[in-house]
Amino acid sequence: MILEQEAIDLVLLDIIMPGIDGFEVCRRIKQNPEWHNIPVVFITAKSDEDTIEEAYAIGGIDYVTKPFKPRELRARVKTHLEFQSMVQHLDFIASYDMLTGILNRRKFFTMSQALFDTHDNVCAIMIDIDRFKYINDDFGHHSGDIALKIISECIARNLPSEAIFGRLGGEEFAILMTDKDETTIMNLVEVMRNAVEKSEIIVENNTQVHCTISSGVAIKDDTVKTLDILLQKADKAMYEAKEKGRNRSIFRA
Ligand code: GH3
Ligand code: MG
Ligand code: MG
Repeated sequence: MILEQEAIDLVLLDIIMPGIDGFEVCRRIKQNPEWHNIPVVFITAKSDEDTIEEAYAIGGIDYVTKPFKPRELRARVKTHLEFQSMVQHLDFIASYDMLTGILNRRKFFTMSQALFDTHDNVCAIMIDIDRFKYINDDFGHHSGDIALKIISECIARNLPSEAIFGRLGGEEFAILMTDKDETTIMNLVEVMRNAVEKSEIIVENNTQVHCTISSGVAIKDDTVKTLDILLQKADKAMYEAKEKGRNRSIFRA
């Protein structure tokens, strides 16, 4: 299928075709999560009401009968493309944190739930910036925002590309990924902690500040039945890291 090789914005689909009928093609498009949102416009000689109803029922967004009027079809396609781009824009706004550009809380939880439900080797990392209040107090809120951006970039840079990394709120971040080996995970968390500690963060008035992070790590096992429990475990470990003096990472078995 061309869909597998190219990014397609919209599909014009006949119903009667050699080999496979248009309804089956539409079903396959709609079943695939990657293609699910691609608008499908049927353009066909069939004009009975049952067929039209079926076309919409399986996910078609519009139905045009042949012989079609080219300018009308162009206008319909334009409308669907504009609508599609608006939906994509709204989806982006609803999924990413405005300040840092990483996943927001809502999207983090949706994606993490899917990973948790389908994998056994899942680990969670909770991260909180240490004494962040002082950055705001000493250098202003805008400087705090700059620091948040730089620190989140610094963490993201050191993560495997498939890791789910989100801002849960304020100066708290969370990561969900598929790994269960304590040494491997703790090595990674230490690399991130070190990278943040060494970061030269330039805030307002060309002032350089330094920040550190505390992290808590937990893995999914038989006692961890839900994503919430996993994150709570990681959160407890993170608070332990705070109590033990901050700028450290703790693994909760
Ligand atoms: P701890 O080491 O115990 O975590 O200390 P802390 O100062 O980091 O913790 P606390 O929860 O007392 O303060 C968090 C601060 O983070 C308070 C708030 O002003 C700041 N903060 C939260 N969200 C934002 C934001 O979006 N921008 C800025 N500039 N600051 C933020
Ligand atoms: Mg903090
Ligand atoms: Mg906090």
